[in-house]
Amino acid sequence: MTTAPPSPTSVLIRNARLYAPEHLGLRDILLVGGRIMAIEPRLDISGLPELTELDANGASLSPGLVDTLTHITGGGGEGGYATRMPAMPAEDAWTSGVTTVTGALGTDAVQRTHTDMLAHARYLATQGVSAYIYSGNYHLPVRTLSGSVQTDLAWIPDVIGVGEVAIADHRGSHPTAEELARLSADVRVGAMLAGKKGVLSIHVGDHEDKLGVLFAAAERYPVRLSHFYPTHINRTRELLQDGIRFAREGGVIDFTASTNEGLLAEGDIDSPAAVAEALSAGVPAERLTLSSDAYASLPEFDADGRFVRVAMGQLHSMAEAVKRGVDDVGLGFDTMLKTVTVNPADVLGLPGKGRLAVGADADLVLWSEDLQVQGVISQGVVRRWPD
Ligand code: ZN
Repeated sequence: MTTAPPSPTSVLIRNARLYAPEHLGLRDILLVGGRIMAIEPRLDISGLPELTELDANGASLSPGLVDTLTHITGGGGEGGYATRMPAMPAEDAWTSGVTTVTGALGTDAVQRTHTDMLAHARYLATQGVSAYIYSGNYHLPVRTLSGSVQTDLAWIPDVIGVGEVAIADHRGSHPTAEELARLSADVRVGAMLAGKKGVLSIHVGDHEDKLGVLFAAAERYPVRLSHFYPTHINRTRELLQDGIRFAREGGVIDFTASTNEGLLAEGDIDSPAAVAEALSAGVPAERLTLSSDAYASLPEFDADGRFVRVAMGQLHSMAEAVKRGVDDVGLGFDTMLKTVTVNPADVLGLPGKGRLAVGADADLVLWSEDLQVQGVISQGVVRRWPD
């Protein structure tokens, strides 16, 4: 389905319990031209043409969720053509509450291409999803759009970083510390030239070296742990321990929100439980993020380890992880929200995303009392709202 993008109008939301993501209490919030114009306990507005007024009736309103890893053109394919995952439809953003996505190729950069991913990101953008992409994929030497990491970052506005480059994984290129340090420098220089932050997303597999090569790069070269952004850190307990050390020493770590019974039985730690464990181990809250890994393949195995089917990473796993963090793990709603809003926005270097503040982008999620996504506004346009 394709539709002409509606233009942002003026929207006034009354009586919202605002999570910016920190809890601000009951507020009115005014959105004009795709930005947040005002946040006050009570706003009296007159003279704005075509003002849409909505009443949140005391429900919680948060920033739109920011996802640092989405296979927007579909991932997978490791089990042959039947296991190729489909591309992300724009409507998925309105059910999941994810208003910013970062596309990555993943394992397959042979049959999946950056040009196709760039075009799909631009399609999503026409529909109101803020969509960015990573250059590169699992492998070295890095595959790019324009010939190099530096030119991709410097010339192509949609390219926000490089990734996910695989380490400790049988499907990766087993990069050395030197190769990763050099790649990190390329990301930094390309990003600096374009005024971007530049992120180097690292896919971490289940090999026992874990984050070893990243620690080695930071030890031997003028590279900081914060220049790498490793994901899937909740894959095993051993990797989580290594990740906690990495984050305590200055890096930001990412947990994958998509999971299933089979993966949990194999040793995956549910992402909200991993957040709780990292916090109690002394990791500063701003160094933890969740991403969906949506449209990646998630193999499922039965109790005897037999392959059952390939499931798919889901964009709505982010909001579901927030709910489990509150309901099952006992973390605060604001604590869980940080991992899916302001923290990932800061990793990507998007100051207008992931926060409710005057001047920020008008991307918002309305939550029901039992923490289901009930309404979504993106770029100032109401995409979904309860009756
Ligand atoms: Zn990955």
